[in-house]
Formats: sequence, structure tokens, C-alpha cells
Amino acid sequence: MRPQSQALQQVLQTLENVAAACERPVARLLAVSKTKPPEAIRALAEAGQRAFGENYVQEAVEKIRLLKPLGLEWHLIGHLQSNKCRDVAEHFDWVESLDRARLVEPLNRFREGHGRPLDVLIQVNPDGEAGKSGCDPAQIDALAALVAQSPNLRLRGLMAIPEPSEDREVRRQTFRRLRGWFDQLRASYPQADTLSMGMSDDYDLAASEGATEVRIGSALFGARD
Ligand SMILES: *Cc1c(COP(=O)(O)O)cnc(C)c1O
Repeated sequence: MRPQSQALQQVLQTLENVAAACERPVARLLAVSKTKPPEAIRALAEAGQRAFGENYVQEAVEKIRLLKPLGLEWHLIGHLQSNKCRDVAEHFDWVESLDRARLVEPLNRFREGHGRPLDVLIQVNPDGEAGKSGCDPAQIDALAALVAQSPNLRLRGLMAIPEPSEDREVRRQTFRRLRGWFDQLRASYPQADTLSMGMSDDYDLAASEGATEVRIGSALFGARD
């Protein structure tokens, strides 16, 4: 087995253990491949991984084009600039980083005619960190309403990155708050089935607090340069 597929098996095993301990379904794995070459993605795809997350639109579009024959699923998880909405709507399957109202109209318009709606997560800034992507939690409802009324977009849930903290208990509290906002969202929009939270160093914690998707880069691919 190649080193990457061993890392994949380890992550999947950890998720299964958490799921068994918490009596929850296993969270799905998004493999975060930003800055990693297409061959590294191909190796994980051969080991069975289908969903990949990218941060930088231009870098991602090149990989998406190149790897098209593999039929993978691509998620944008990086900050989305308005002038990139067209590329994103035309090439990605999911956007996890929608965090302001003015992205909704262009994403919807450029997705027209693509056959399948673009799956959307609203990114929340859960700890009120200055200068960080993500909407204020108080804006979730308004953004959700805009996405839900857009025919070419499909509201699927929430994504967030907690404030970096050495104290796992602090992060646990943030994951728990996110789970609360997710449950509120689902009460109005039952189609919202995805809570994306947890990265390489805290995905077990996020999964135990109700993540339905974890986004993992370095634990799969090794450290980034
Ligand atoms: C880079 C990134 C990840 C993965 O981070 P790792 O610590 O390498 O697992 C997850 N989510 C987002 C939004 C990222 O930008």
C-alpha cells in the first residue's frame, strides 16, 4: 500500500471508532488536496476516496480538468471572491464557503444549464474572529433563505473552522455551538444534511460532536510546504 492510502485507512478507522463510541453515523471524509499535485489525488482516488476539497480556484480548476476522467467530487473550501463565482459555478460540485449575500446571485446565474444544482454550505465564523471568513451566526437565517430560493443552488448546511486553541475543550464548545445552529437550520430546511467541521488535529472531536463531514489535509497527504 502507498503511504497515502495507509493514512486514509487510519483516518477512516478513527472515524469508525468515534462513530461506534458515540452511536452516530460515520462522518464522511473530504480530502483536502490544496497545494498537492494531481498524482497525490490520483493515489487517494485509487484507494477509494471520491470527495476532494480545494482552496484556490485557479489551482483547483486545473486539477479538476486534468482529473475529469476519474469522476471525482470537488468542494471549494477556501475564501470565495466575487470575481471567481463563474469558475466555481462551472467546475465545482459544492461550495462550502458561501459567507455573504452578494455571492448568491452570481453563483446561481452561472450555474444555470449545468444540469445539477450547486450544493452549498454557509460558512460561519463561530468564534467571532476578526478578519476571518464566515458570516456572523446571526446572519445564517437570512443567507439560508437567499440560497434556498435560488433554483440552481441547493442548501446543504453549514461549514466552520473554530478559533485555533490548544485547549481541546474550548474547541469542543465551539463544535457544540455549531451543532446547535445546524439543528436550528434543519428545523426550517430539512434538506440541510451536512455539518462540515473538524480538520487533521481535531476531526475525532468534531465527529463526536456531530460533524457529518470532516475536512482533512495534512493527516492524509503529509504537511504542506
Ligand atoms: C486547509 C484546510 C483544511 C485542512 O487542514 P489540515 O489541518 O491540513 O487537515 C480544512 N478546512 C479548510 C477550510 C482548510 O482551508
